[in-house]
Amino acid sequence: MHLGQSVVESVDFDEDEQAVVVSVRVRKAARNRCGKCQRRCARYDAGAGRRRWRSLDLGPVRTFLEADAPRVSCPGHGVVVAWVPWARHGVGHTRLFDDLAAWLVRYTSKTTVSTFLRIAWRSVVAIVTRVTADLDAEAGDRLANVRRIGIDEISYKRRHKYLVVVVDHDTGLLLWAKEGRDKKTVGAFFDVLGDERCRQIELVSADGADWIADIVGLRCPQAKICVDPFHVVSWATDALDLVRRQVWNEARRRGQTGLARGLRDCRFALWKNPEDLTGKQQAKLSWIQQTNQTLYRAYLLKEQLRQVFAAGGAERIALLDHWLQWAARCRIGPFTDLARRMRRYRDDIANTLTHNLSNARVESVNTKIRLLERIAYGVKKADPLIALAMLHLGGYKILLPGRA
Ligand SMILES: [Zn+2]
Repeated sequence: MHLGQSVVESVDFDEDEQAVVVSVRVRKAARNRCGKCQRRCARYDAGAGRRRWRSLDLGPVRTFLEADAPRVSCPGHGVVVAWVPWARHGVGHTRLFDDLAAWLVRYTSKTTVSTFLRIAWRSVVAIVTRVTADLDAEAGDRLANVRRIGIDEISYKRRHKYLVVVVDHDTGLLLWAKEGRDKKTVGAFFDVLGDERCRQIELVSADGADWIADIVGLRCPQAKICVDPFHVVSWATDALDLVRRQVWNEARRRGQTGLARGLRDCRFALWKNPEDLTGKQQAKLSWIQQTNQTLYRAYLLKEQLRQVFAAGGAERIALLDHWLQWAARCRIGPFTDLARRMRRYRDDIANTLTHNLSNARVESVNTKIRLLERIAYGVKKADPLIALAMLHLGGYKILLPGRA
């Protein structure tokens, strides 16, 4: 707080409020400044008179600063309440209070913050939003040395809304987030990044969504795209499940009830990694091998693709190409479709294998944002959630007020 810019006039105890009230005034040099731009302006009027700002408690007793809140006439902002050194514009808490709240949010629980500060959680979220905006302004250029980024989407509000998030692979920090899930949203990040720094981007990991890859290709043509291995394997798992449903439906059509029942219940045996199978599931897999060759070959295709990513070394790209050929010729519809689709991403998948860039760090950030969604107030709007996410995952230096 700009202590030198204000003067304490008196300290009283308000019996009605059961609170300490510190009367202060702004020093002459800092008086009559616009609350928004701090430009020195002409005084307009006395505004609504005396005002109070909640500040740091004196032990168990709440403390308020009290001062005149005159209005000034700013050429840029019109008639506004004058700037005060101890609080952000237009709010009822001092900077010290705001900063303490942000520190508590970062390092303690939701209940601790509300109980300790004796304010509603929605007020806490409003504080976090304005403190984070200031932290970001003070942090300088956070995007200066960004080379390897992950771009992903995350759903919130029960999959009704989405955020695009950008994570730095080298630091694991959340760099940027914005509401949306389209090219325009991703483009907004590159706007912030600027042309020069767009040219510095070397690797971009993403989940294989075209709306991400297209805009990356446009704005950072030199960057290599890495498709997240987890997503590639999940495509194969989806294809496998499609095959299982096809053979199951066929068995039902033919009235093979025993076979149909077996196929209905085998999803987990096919889906799990072989090393995690229970004895019963292993038996199920052997039964599939004996009764349905198509489904078993689909299973092998899925497992082989998983092995491509699990193995190490340069031979993995050869394994990938071998897999693509195998899948293209396998005559199992969902897998020939998958092979065709994956051929488009062949180079992006090869990049993943060459640079060992997985989306693990992005996923970890996403998991934490999902946890934050539960404590964000309401989450009808993206801004509070993004502010909370940036406070926790943006790597800002968050200090207790008055501590170095
Ligand atoms: Zn102004």
